[in-house]
Amino acid sequence: MGRSSVLLIYTGGTIGMKTDPVTGTLVPFDFNGIYDEFPSLRRLDVELEVLPFEPIDSSNVEPELWVSLARIIRENYDRYDGFVVLHGTDTMSYSSSALSFMLDNLGKPVVFTGSQIPIGVLRTDGRENLITAIEIAAAREAGRAIVPEVSLYFQNRLFRANRTKKHSAEELSAFASHNYPALADVGVGIHYRTGAIARCEGEGAFAIDTAVSREVAVVKVFPGLTEPVFRTMLQAEGVKGVVLETYGAGNAPTFDWFIQALEQTVSRGVHVVNVTQCVSGSVNMDIYETGRRLQDAGVISGRDMTTEAALTKMMCLLGRGYAPEEFVRRMGHSMRGEMTEE
Ligand code: ASP
Repeated sequence: MGRSSVLLIYTGGTIGMKTDPVTGTLVPFDFNGIYDEFPSLRRLDVELEVLPFEPIDSSNVEPELWVSLARIIRENYDRYDGFVVLHGTDTMSYSSSALSFMLDNLGKPVVFTGSQIPIGVLRTDGRENLITAIEIAAAREAGRAIVPEVSLYFQNRLFRANRTKKHSAEELSAFASHNYPALADVGVGIHYRTGAIARCEGEGAFAIDTAVSREVAVVKVFPGLTEPVFRTMLQAEGVKGVVLETYGAGNAPTFDWFIQALEQTVSRGVHVVNVTQCVSGSVNMDIYETGRRLQDAGVISGRDMTTEAALTKMMCLLGRGYAPEEFVRRMGHSMRGEMTEE
C-alpha cells in the first residue's frame, strides 16, 4: 500500500490567520506556502495537496460554498484517499452537516477542522487540529478508509459532522456531539470507535446531489411569544420548511392560536420539523399533551437531530423537490446517521 494522498481545501476562518511581522495585525496565511510555515508536515507520511479558496469568515458562508466543496470532492474523488476542509468554526457544523447530505455513497474521509486560536499564534490549537485531521483523512486499514464519513475533528475528538454543535466560543474544545459518541478519541494514539463509524460500501457509486433550497426558517418558541409574531415568522414569504425549536422533549404551548397557526402552515404545504432547544436528548411527541398536539397538527418529529442538521437536511430535501409524503418520510428518518432511529 503506497502513501495516502490528501487534498486540503482551505476556505478561511481563524485557522488561516497569522500575525503580520511588520504591522502586528492578523492577516490571512498563504496556504500555498504551508510547508515553509510548517516544515513538520513533511514528516507526515502523506502526499498533501492544497487547494486554497478566497478566505472568508465563516459567518459569511452561503450554500454556494457547500456546492463548490461537493463538486471539488467529486472532481477529485478518484485522485485522493481523503479530504480535509479547513473552515471557520462559527458555521462549521452547518457546512459539514450540509456536505454529509450532499455526498452519496461516500467511501472516503472528508474531515472538517479549524481552530479557536489563529495558526500563526504561538499557543494555537490549529496545528494539532490540522495535523491530526490530515492523519485521519489518510488513515486506511487493509486498503480501506477507516472513517469514510463526513466528520469534524476538534481538540482530540473526531465526531460525525452532522451530530455536532459549536458549544463554546471560549474553550478550545469548541464542538460537542451530545447525542452520538465520538468516532475517535485522540491521545497518544488515535483510538477509532469502529462500531460507531458508518460504512456505505457496496451500496452504489459515489455521487453528489447539490440541489439546495433557501426557502427555510428556524423558529424558536419562548415564553411570551405572541400570535402575530409567530404567524409572521411562519408566513414569511417563500418559506417552504420550518425548523421549530421547542422545549425539552419537543413540547410547545397548547394555546389554540399556536396550534391553529401550525395546522394552517402545514395545510399550506409548508413542512414543519420539531427539534429540541436542549443540547442533548430527543423530541418525543408521544409523552406530553403539549407534544401530542404538535403531532396532530402535522409537525414532523426531528427526534435527536441538531438544529444545524435539521436545517441543512431540510434545505437539501426541499432542493430535490420531493412530493410531500416522500419529503416527510425522508425528513423523519436517518439519511446519514444524523438521527437515532427507534
Ligand atoms: N469567525 C471565525 C469563523 O468562523 C471564527 C473561527 O474560525 O473560529 O470564520
